[in-house]
Amino acid sequence: MKHDIIKGWIKDMNIGIDIGGSHIGIGLVDSNGKIQKKLEKNITQKERNDIKTFLKETIINTINEWIKKDNISIKKIGIGIPGIVKESKIKYSVNLGISNYDLKSILKKEFPNIEINIKNDAKCAGLAEKNLGALKKINDCIFICLGTGIGGAAFYNGKLITPKRSSGFEFGHMILQKNGEPCRCGSKGCFEIYGSMRRFKNDIRTCLNFSEEIEGEKLLNSIKENLNNEKIINIINEYIENLCIGISNIVDLLEPQAICIGGSFVYYKDILLQKLEKELYNSNYIFYKENMPKIVVAELGNDAGIIGSALYA
Ligand SMILES: [Zn+2]
Repeated sequence: MKHDIIKGWIKDMNIGIDIGGSHIGIGLVDSNGKIQKKLEKNITQKERNDIKTFLKETIINTINEWIKKDNISIKKIGIGIPGIVKESKIKYSVNLGISNYDLKSILKKEFPNIEINIKNDAKCAGLAEKNLGALKKINDCIFICLGTGIGGAAFYNGKLITPKRSSGFEFGHMILQKNGEPCRCGSKGCFEIYGSMRRFKNDIRTCLNFSEEIEGEKLLNSIKENLNNEKIINIINEYIENLCIGISNIVDLLEPQAICIGGSFVYYKDILLQKLEKELYNSNYIFYKENMPKIVVAELGNDAGIIGSALYA
């Protein structure tokens, strides 16, 4: 990797910050979208109790440490957040439990000479997949981020569709069920209640008597060991069916050539992807069956959020 090194300083690096409902990723990203350095932390109930202080301190301390240690000059800090951004403020984030929070101004005091931008996280990750990943050669496509919640981005003719008033495409809050389970947004029966990875993982944990800390590889391996367990099979089938109903609604509205799935779903793709394709292509959910979209998983994996925030926020 070639960098523009002047007097020992690595110039023109961007910081990408991907804030999810249960995880924060901070990356030092070069202009080609390669992550040179990365810090990841889980956001548990403890951090959520004072989420504003946690975010502020984690971001400021990490960036200051990198600047000092590695002689880096930073051009831009891009932040992706799960929620609505308006006039650079976090207007409303259901999964972080914050509203009207001016994170940009707080960071600007610490880094007055660095450009700072905030954007919806799924739009950032979607742009990374569109420009550098699995959706590169596809004009009309959808990005769906399956994580703690469900976020999305839609592209038409190669361009991100950007509504005037807000970032739009909040697929996670389409209503899937009348009088359904309550969502953190205040509605009932939202798609993300049934189709998010949080739902899938929580159902598995409950079934196997696991605590909230059982995550990642341990959870994945436990599912693999229990693939003959009828209760686990039912959880997987139920999850896939709900996912298909939500995705079919999106397909019927937007007629994409491809759907890219990102977020922590990518980590569980061995268990879920084939089943999702089979159910979507063989069941009767999609209206125009001749136009079945291709399903691809995020090539940049869970890093799409960091890369997208760094380059496109
Ligand atoms: Zn909702």
